[in-house]
This record gives sequence, C-alpha cells and structure tokens, in this order.
Amino acid sequence: MKKIIVQKFGGTSVADTERIKHVAQVVVKEKNNGNDVVVVVSAMGHTTDHLVKMAHEINSQPSEREMDMLLSTGECVSMALLTMAIQSLGYDAVSFNAAQVGIYTENVHNKARIIDIKTEKLRKNLNEGKIIIIAGFQGITEDGEITTLGRGGSDTSAVALAAALNAERCDIYTDVEGVYTTDPRVVPNASKLDEISYEEMLELAHAGANVLHPRSVETAKQHEVPLRVRSSFKTENLGTLILGVEKMEINKPVAGVAEDSSQVRIVVCDIPDTPGEAATLFGSLAEKNVSVDMIIQSYARKSSNTNDIAFTINKSDLPRAQEVLNTVKEKLQAGDIKIDENIAKVSIIGAGMIDRPGIASTMFKTLAESGINIRMISTSEIKISCLINKEDASKAVKALHDVFNLGCEEVADVKGTLPDC
Ligand code: ADP
Ligand code: ASP
Ligand code: MG
Repeated sequence: MKKIIVQKFGGTSVADTERIKHVAQVVVKEKNNGNDVVVVVSAMGHTTDHLVKMAHEINSQPSEREMDMLLSTGECVSMALLTMAIQSLGYDAVSFNAAQVGIYTENVHNKARIIDIKTEKLRKNLNEGKIIIIAGFQGITEDGEITTLGRGGSDTSAVALAAALNAERCDIYTDVEGVYTTDPRVVPNASKLDEISYEEMLELAHAGANVLHPRSVETAKQHEVPLRVRSSFKTENLGTLILGVEKMEINKPVAGVAEDSSQVRIVVCDIPDTPGEAATLFGSLAEKNVSVDMIIQSYARKSSNTNDIAFTINKSDLPRAQEVLNTVKEKLQAGDIKIDENIAKVSIIGAGMIDRPGIASTMFKTLAESGINIRMISTSEIKISCLINKEDASKAVKALHDVFNLGCEEVADVKGTLPDC
C-alpha cells in the first residue's frame, strides 16, 4: 500500500491564481514521490475576513448558522480552483467538500469539533490514483447542517484527516518557514525551531501563536500524527517537526513567546462569598459555549462578605457572554460588570521551565523594567501568562524574547541567570 501524505495550504499560499498554480506543482511533486496525496485548502487570501465584514455590514448580529453557511463558501472556491490547476498539469484530481466526504462535527456553529470522518470515499478515490482536494475549516452535523471549526480551523481539518487515514505525515504549508521562537513578523530576529514538542506547541498555539490552530495540535498529539510546519514558497526546507516531548532533548527553559490580543477581560464585582457562585457564573457561560481562559477570584472583603471574579474570554464570544451576564448578575445579586477590551496576553512557554526556579521572576522583572504593568497572571506547568495593556504587547514580546535569549542559538543554563547572546 502506498503511503498517504496530507498537505494543507493556508490562505496566503492560495491567495491568487498564480499561487494556486504554484501549489499545484508542490502537490504533484509529492504524488511523483510515489505517495497518495490528500490536500486540504483554506479560503484564498483574506476571503474569510471579507465575508465576515460583509455579513456585519448587513446585520450587526448575524445568526451563527448563516455565518457558517457564508464562511464555508471560501474554502470551496480554492478547492475547485486548485483541482483545476492540478488537472491542467495532466493529473487526475477531484475535490470534495466536508459533506461529500463525511467530516462530521458536533452540532455547534462557529467552533464545532470534529467527531468522525468517513474514509470510504477517500480510499476509493485514492485507489483510483486520484489526488484529492478537500475544503478545510468546514464540517457537517448528523442532521446535514453546515458547521465551521473556528478561525484557522483548516489546520485541524488536515490533521484530523491525517489521523483518520493513518497518514504517514501531515504537512502544514504556510507563509513562514516553520514555527519560530515568536512571531517573526513582530520580532525579526526570532529563530526557527527545527523541532518542538506537541505539549509546547499546544501551549504556544493557545497563547496566540496562530501558525497552528490549537485543536490541530491537540489532535496530532492524541493520534501521534507526525506534523510539519513548512513554507509554501521554499518547499525544499523541512520546516519544523512537531513531535512527542519524550523524543526531544530540552536545553532551553523557554522555547517561545506568544501574544494574544483577541481577548477581553470581564470583572464581575461584589459577588456574595457563598458556595456555588463561581459554578453558577461559569456554568451559565459554558451553556452558551463561551470558553473562559484566565480566572482570578479576589479575597473576600470582610466588610461586605463579597469578592470579585475577573476572567478573560475571546472577543468573538463577547456577544454570547453578554446575553447571560445580566441574568447571572441578578441571580448572584452581584454588583457591576466591567468589560475591558484594551488588553493583551503575553506568554512564555517551555517544557524546560519545569523544576527550574527563577523563570517567573525573570519574566515579571523584565516586564517591570520595561514599565509594563501586569494585570493578571496565570500559569501551567510549562507556561506563564501575563495580562497587560494592549499597547504594551509588542514591547513585552520583544523584551521577553531578548531576556530568554531566543534570538540566538546559545543554550541557556538557567538558575535565574541567562547567558549573553
Ligand atoms: P495560514 O494562512 O497559512 O494558515 P496563518 O496566518 O494562519 O497562515 O499562520 C501563519 C502566521 O502565523 C505567520 O505569518 C506568522 O505571522 C504567525 N505566527 C505567530 N506566531 C508564530 C510563530 N511562533 N512561528 C511562526 N509563525 C507565527
Ligand atoms: N479560512 C478560515 C480562516 O480564515 C480557516 C483557515 O484559514 O484555516 O479562519
Ligand atoms: Mg492558519
């Protein structure tokens, strides 16, 4: 049996017809290597952004179902055009949307999770020697409703297909040469990583490194799909391999720095300090499918026996959160609700920070020396995140990237002190 390679091309890679023709060359090259090839495509260039803009020009609160109907069309355009480009090179190719393949998701609009992928049709077409092109980002429910997987979700379509087909590898082709120590468009001396663990990549992606959709990394880790991020333009380069942490030698305490400016902070003030209040608040948000990231509860004030709960959510979930917050406020007999959109989250990530003291204090000191105020902190075993003012985000990323010496190859020997570059 031939090996199956899944390739995914992002929006920039298929931004115009010339680029689509170039992608067709990359695809047939893989086919000529003797592999079966399944390709997943994103919408062309900024198509999805344009569709979102048009929807909001027509209706300030478009229904989630119709947004999915609209946004799923972007990927269908690139899928058909790429198939035509491959056919014009003399190869047999066929395109399918998610409904035709059977990419089943849960019954949730805008950020559905894939629950099952049917492979019969794909295997039949591969056995006939065809190259298959699939529309990323979309799925279908059991009832035949169109869903989408969340912005950037074509990465997840590709990895889930690779897992379902037991593919040899999933190659994510994009507009940078791999995964870098931070966004190379923000910090020009960011270094490209040859490899990174699933665990670190998952934290980086959740922390805002949008080079990979977080759920694609989650799926790759779960099914042990070998995953590569590489350039559509410099295809001879192997990019970054994402693999299990046990296979890696970890030298540096911090592998990368990420920034996320897409969150908002909500503070519910003066909540009576009694059991079950947090469960009521976050239960109501969960019912509306609002994911919460950082959470801080203040000490109870003795005078009023109340406390405040501050948390962050994605900006796109704010309208849904607002639908429940006023009801919850009454239920809890809480005080004001404050919403702050002028925030950004900066995070440092690294499996090497486990058992190495001094990393958090270096981060806080660096932000302080840059005159940046920390408004919330959260940590996991391999990540420290600080919420700061949005205008300080780039400065914070650059300072943290510098202090942890990520711009150079030298290995850090950390117990608080870091080597010079
Ligand atoms: P695509 O359209 O191919 O899916 P994306 O725009 O979703 O591409 O992701 C690629 C972009 O991710 C890069 O252009 C880069 O600006 C950004 N990015 C953010 N963090 C990182 C990082 N740590 N490494 C590489 N790219 C990053
Ligand atoms: N086109 C979708 C987006 O722009 C999905 C993707 O590109 O992965 O978010
Ligand atoms: Mg992307």
